[in-house]
Amino acid sequence: MRAADIADQLTEVLVTEEQIEEKLEELAARVEADYAGKDLVLVGVLKGAVMVMADFSRRLNRQVTMDWMAVSSYGAGTKSSGVVQIRKDLDTDLHGKHVLIVEDIIDSGLTLSWLLENFASRGADSLEVLALLRKPEAAKVEIDCRYLGFDIPNDFVVGYGLDYAERYRNLRDVAVLAPHVYR
Ligand code: IMP
Ligand code: MG
Repeated sequence: MRAADIADQLTEVLVTEEQIEEKLEELAARVEADYAGKDLVLVGVLKGAVMVMADFSRRLNRQVTMDWMAVSSYGAGTKSSGVVQIRKDLDTDLHGKHVLIVEDIIDSGLTLSWLLENFASRGADSLEVLALLRKPEAAKVEIDCRYLGFDIPNDFVVGYGLDYAERYRNLRDVAVLAPHVYR
């Protein structure tokens, strides 16, 4: 669905599907150049990164492997708890691989900083982060994000994989959720 289909539940569209497509194309070209000749593993963080992973990976004109982690940090609310739990670990060994973590959004940064620390001991040759969105004003820890889509304001957003209580992930655009929906 597009934002117009559920306009009553949104206050503002921050990034359109078209802008996302253009940005992913740009990021894919950079990643291709940076990882030429290297074994690249994309690690998606479930469930939010599913759309970014699907669209970004298909724009790469080279082979990659994909693996997935599921961590929980939010529950059904709209505020980060700071508590990270692994719900599903990787299936693959990272030794000798170049790892690119693919994320939907960096909010407080707590999830990624925890993940980066967790990955540091897995023997990868390199470890970088690609995130579609980032909320600079919400940062509690600084994350070194090599491939970034868009900086957005500190509002709760949904769409393009991002949910509120598991809904809105199939919205094609990224939009601010109207407060009346979660209050
Ligand atoms: P963190 O605060 O950076 O640890 O964010 C952790 C996770 O919370 C992200 O990967 C998202 O899945 C989720 N999240 C953060 N901000 C939002 C938002 O505005 N809408 C929906 N999910 C969010
Ligand atoms: Mg996520």
